[in-house]
Parts: sequence; structure tokens; C-alpha cells
Amino acid sequence: MSETSEIFRDSFGTITKEGKRNWVYAKWPKGKFYNGRTVVSIVYLIVFFTLPWIKYRDEPLFLFNLVERKFILFGTIFWPQDFFVFALAMLTFIVFIVLFTVVFGRIFCGWVCPQTIFMEMVFRKIEYWIDGDAEKQKRLNAMPWNGEKILKRSGKFLAFFTMSFIIANYFLAYITGMDHVMDLMKGGLATHLDVFIPLVIFTFVFFFVYWWFREQACLIVCPYGRLQGVMLDPNSIVVAYDYVRGEPRGKISKDEPEKKGDCIDCFDCVRVCPTGIDIRNGTQMECVNCTACIDACDAIMTKVHRDTGLIRYASENNIKKGEKLHMNIRTGAYMVVLFVLLGVLTTLLVTRKDIQATIMRAQGMLYQEQPGNKISNIYNIKLINKTRKDIPVQLRLEDEEELHGTIKMVGKDLHVPSESVGDGIFFVIMDKSELHHRKNKIEIGVYSGDKKIDEVKTNFMAPNN
Ligand code: SF4
Ligand code: SF4
Repeated sequence: MSETSEIFRDSFGTITKEGKRNWVYAKWPKGKFYNGRTVVSIVYLIVFFTLPWIKYRDEPLFLFNLVERKFILFGTIFWPQDFFVFALAMLTFIVFIVLFTVVFGRIFCGWVCPQTIFMEMVFRKIEYWIDGDAEKQKRLNAMPWNGEKILKRSGKFLAFFTMSFIIANYFLAYITGMDHVMDLMKGGLATHLDVFIPLVIFTFVFFFVYWWFREQACLIVCPYGRLQGVMLDPNSIVVAYDYVRGEPRGKISKDEPEKKGDCIDCFDCVRVCPTGIDIRNGTQMECVNCTACIDACDAIMTKVHRDTGLIRYASENNIKKGEKLHMNIRTGAYMVVLFVLLGVLTTLLVTRKDIQATIMRAQGMLYQEQPGNKISNIYNIKLINKTRKDIPVQLRLEDEEELHGTIKMVGKDLHVPSESVGDGIFFVIMDKSELHHRKNKIEIGVYSGDKKIDEVKTNFMAPNN
């Protein structure tokens, strides 16, 4: 990090000393990184707006219904009973993000974070098209309310509001499913208030964020941004200014060229920054690694015939000591944790059952004597049907031949409706002469037709011989 003053860390560049908003008029970036991010954002937006329309086995491919705690990932439905699988998936994702951040800094923020994509690649572009580049925006803001300003402001308002409404619809589709959102469109508002009210709220929230709140979402609200201080280390690759090469900065002067570093103090890197910071002050929490300053500085370096890369992806150790990226203990430890979590998660996903049975012996009753020299035990069964089909269930004693046992349901046969929990009571009856132990291990198969859908091991209690 540069040895320049650290006073800038005491305040946000976007908030004045009086606590008012310091509006950022970011210059439109141009360059290879910006072009790369534009391509990524186009792919991202195509995926974002296409996924809610895709169905698999009559279900959305992805659904994150937090209200009903129902989640669908790649067509597989996860119910509240699978919450531990989902929680583990989230934990794995977080460890992955942490590991990724330790190694590659905030690359996620700059390239794929939805806030950055929508702010920089959708709304800010609309703003550039309507209001013009940063200088024109400043002028427009300062001018009185004349015809031009009214026209541009209302055009921008309409475009931002429409875009916010569209995003809100899709956002909601990820929560309730596109069918539900389409029902609202077809059936009218009054009948679908459960969708209409959140739709209005989301539209206004998105509009507020992109019209006014903007970079403050990254600076004040986002918890990931707040964690940078503990996740980054001197080997993390971040967007960084090469102060070894750049300092002492100064305008190009024919009189004393050899005394200066490569930074010509043109401030172009600051002008393009959407969070209003000066990257030359060192790695800062406000930097979302958007690469705009890399493009700006490369363009300047090319103009003054110096090597590009004065601002580039680099680690502190790379700049200070010329070191290449290498693994440290922390990175290794995160990788071990990540692989363990991935292993456990894969096992849980592979062994996850659509029907889950729990069988327990009824409390307080060891066994019952039955006519014909037989012994019975009574059991409770609980079945969770995670599918969208009603399932008739039969129970079979897997060791039937060896133990000559039978299963007799109490009441009607088991039938578990879709997406619900069913329970029942049954007897296992066995021939006394076959039972040689007080506690006998048995296995009960859960079948739907001829298909075995689960099996449960339990004990069968018998009198002492
Ligand atoms: S400092 Fe550079 S990379 Fe960081 S937010 Fe500003 S322009 Fe983007
Ligand atoms: S764009 Fe490059 S040369 Fe200009 S001030 Fe920033 S770091 Fe220095």
C-alpha cells in the first residue's frame, strides 16, 4: 500500500463533511476490461431473464420461495425437511466466496454481482444515453428547469421506472414462479394481491436503489463489502495502483522528467470511478474492483507512450516485492474446508430420497402376546412425501422369510398426498419360536407398488427365552 496519507480512510468520498450526499458523476469507461464486462453482463442478463421461463418436469428450474421455505435447484425440490442440505449448500457457497475473495479479491463485485451489473451495465448506460457523459450530467443537474431538463429527466424517470418494474417481475418470478406472476398479469390485481403488493414494493425498492441510492448499496449496505478487511491479505489479487512505478506522481515536465514516476496525475482513474475513490490511495473498502480505472489509466499510459498496467490486477506483494501469486496457510485451510463441505454436500444430494420414512416403536409397550404362539410389536411410521404426486405406500418385512413375520396396518392403508407428511400405526407380528433374542434387528421396506422407496432398520422386542 502506498505510504501516502491515510486520512481518506476516515470518511466516505460520497458523503460531505456536513453529512450530505456527494453525487458521483462517473465518466463512461472505455477499454478492453469494460468491453469484457459488457459481454459478461449480456450473458448474465440473458440467463437472468430466461431462467424463470424454463421448466423441468412441470416445475421451474430454480425457485427460492423463502416465504413457504420451498426451494428448487436444477429442478430438484427441497422442502423444509431438507433444510440442512440447503443450509450446507449455502455454507459451501459462502466458503467458496471467501476462498475466491482471499485469492482474487472482489472480482465477484466487479464482474457478476447483480447490483454492479444492473447499476453499471443497465441503468448507468441508460443514463449515459439520455443525459450524456459525466460532464453533461453535471451541467444538466446545475441548469434550471427548462425544456431540455424536463424532457431528459422525465425520459430517464420513465426508463428507470419501467426497467425497475421489469426486474421486479423477474425477481418475483424467482420467488413465486413465473406462472404465479403471469396469473397476476392475466387475472387482474384484485385476485392476486399476494403477488401485486410485493411487485409494487420491489419496483419502488429497485427504482430507489438505481435512481438515487446507487453505490451506497455497496458502500453501506452490502455485508460482503464490509468483510473485505478480514478476507484480503497481501497476496490477494485486487485492482491496485503500482505505487512503486507510479510515484512520485506529477505532470509531465520537460525540465525534470527523470525525477517523476509514471503517474502523470491526470485524475482520469478517479473520474471513471463509480464509487468516487482514488485508487492511488491504496486498497479501499469502497473499491468494487470494477476495473474502470484500469481502462482509464491504460488509455492515458498509451497516450503518453508508457507501459500500460500502472493500475492492474495485482497483489500488494506483487507490487512491493515483485512476488508472484502463491498459496499461503489460510488459502490452503479454506480449500480443505471447501473440499470437505463439497464432499458432504455431494453425498447428501446423491443419497437424498423423495420419500423419507421414520419408523419408531410405540413408547411404553415392549411387546404383545398374540394368539397362535405369536408376538407383536407396535410401531409408528411418519412419511414425508417430497414429490408432487400422491403416493400409496405398502410396508414389507425385508427379513420376512427368515423370521416368518407379517405387517398389519392399524386402520386404513397408508396414502401420502403430494408435498405433505403422512403417518400411521402398524403391528409387526412374528412367530415366538423364531425369536431367540430379547432384541431382534429387523428391516422394514417402504414400497410404492413394486418400487422400493425407502428402508428403515429398527428393533423387535421379544420375551426372554
Ligand atoms: S477504484 Fe477502480 S476498480 Fe475500484 S471501484 Fe473505483 S474504478 Fe472501480
Ligand atoms: S489514470 Fe493513471 S496516470 Fe492518471 S492519475 Fe490515475 S494512475 Fe495516474
